[in-house]
Amino acid sequence: MRILLIEDELKLGAFVTRGFIAESYAVDVASDGEEGYALSQVYPYDLILLDLMLPKIDGYEVLRRIRQKNKAVPVLVLTARDAVEDKVRLFEAGADDYLTKPFAFAELLVRSKALLRRGTATRSSVLKLGDLELDRLTQTVKHTGKRIDLTTKEYALLEYLMLNPGRVLSRNMIIEHVWDQSFDGLTNIVDVYVRHLRIKVDDPHDHKMIRTVRGAGYMIVGKDAI
Ligand code: CA
Repeated sequence: MRILLIEDELKLGAFVTRGFIAESYAVDVASDGEEGYALSQVYPYDLILLDLMLPKIDGYEVLRRIRQKNKAVPVLVLTARDAVEDKVRLFEAGADDYLTKPFAFAELLVRSKALLRRGTATRSSVLKLGDLELDRLTQTVKHTGKRIDLTTKEYALLEYLMLNPGRVLSRNMIIEHVWDQSFDGLTNIVDVYVRHLRIKVDDPHDHKMIRTVRGAGYMIVGKDAI
């Protein structure tokens, strides 16, 4: 899942980003309101973490614009203010939750997961394809009921493939969804991770799910596909 963090305090931004990356999320950081709003319109984020006191456009205005354009994405506000009237104003503005600074990362993670769960409540949090099952909340993967241990990036790659079964995903699309903006390495990182994933997901089984589409990219297919 991909998170947008709009926060101008660099230290806090780095701290939060590190925490989420360790939990297999991809995180983009915007350091002012303008950039944050722009990014929120470009990528389909699963969650937005929003500071209120921001350069250029403040958090309330960012929230107002996001809600005008895209009602679905959950927004968790990180605020230094704890006055009651501000909380009311926050929920009226369309925030889903808030956390007062300073906070422990563990609490931010719990609240974020709660919002992500709400977001996936309409569809199931479990993605199924053939014998493969991926639970987006517990971040566990099973094949024919047997647990497969994946690294955070392998998990994120498989999740993206399974969200798009039967669809060819280019290396650039994969990088955009699984890695984050800070990634400026070579696109063959995708090939390397696909190879790792195949060893764990496909090698033990006759039916190979992860397919290479020559010149185009990769796709994952279920059992009925040839
Ligand atoms: Ca701030």
